Amino acid sequence: MSKLEINDLRVSVDTEDGPKEILKGVTLTINDGETHAIMGPNGSGKSTLAYSIAGHPKYTITGGTVTLDGDDVLAMTVDERARAGLFLAMQYPVEVPGVSVSNFLRTAKTAIDGEAPKLRTWVKDVNGVLEQLNLDPTFASRSVNEGFSGGEKKRHEIAQLELLDPKVAVLDETDSGLDIDALKIVSEGVNRFKADGDKGVLLITHYTRILRYIKPDFVHVFVDGRVAEEGGPELADQLESEGYDKYVKAAAAS
Ligand code: ADP
Ligand code: MG
Ligand code: MG
Repeated sequence: MSKLEINDLRVSVDTEDGPKEILKGVTLTINDGETHAIMGPNGSGKSTLAYSIAGHPKYTITGGTVTLDGDDVLAMTVDERARAGLFLAMQYPVEVPGVSVSNFLRTAKTAIDGEAPKLRTWVKDVNGVLEQLNLDPTFASRSVNEGFSGGEKKRHEIAQLELLDPKVAVLDETDSGLDIDALKIVSEGVNRFKADGDKGVLLITHYTRILRYIKPDFVHVFVDGRVAEEGGPELADQLESEGYDKYVKAAAAS
């Protein structure tokens, strides 16, 4: 059982001209087993939402609440959020020179579970996940994100997702920069994660193509820091043919 509730969330970012409001009241509930897609034009605040849920220090929460199973996520440290079962795939993952993928994953798993995973099953799990993501076993000994191709970064994110096995995953532009084969591999990883049936997924994307592989239950159109429209998967099809124009104009006029 897991439920991520975002209620009237308002977020500002500090700029040279002072604080600028980016999220202007976002309300969204992700129940367990549900996949929600957030779609919207560049600059609409999609990544701001992801970073705010993750607890990035650059973003100031000025109003509203985020709870996971009733617990106040916004009061938690970044580590506590991960331990509570939240996962954020970073849109621009950082390099961690000198730390191997294998150590990074094991450290993260240990931090989240509160105890180190049993070595034998862990190695088997890691190798299994890497293999399914079409990553060479030697990938585990490379430094995190150092010299990774765009596709390797995304597959590494999904390896984290599968191994850390959170309750709710927030995936920000997991599809960006992937060719069609890599997109399929990454999507299959997300679908394996979802297969438990009780996982919440918030899939943030600019393009509809990933939604051909990862089926959303709900689609939210994000414009100017707000949810401008909500619907089922058919809304993604409509966006595919019509674009965001209608919603951008309506938001500008209001
Ligand atoms: P999206 O992910 O939908 O493209 P973002 O959340 O990245 O949108 O950005 C939303 C808006 O907030 C944009 O206008 C962007 O320029 C602004 N913004 C985000 N982060 C910062 C920041 N650190 N400093 C200044 N402006 C920012
Ligand atoms: Mg973004
Ligand atoms: Mg699983």
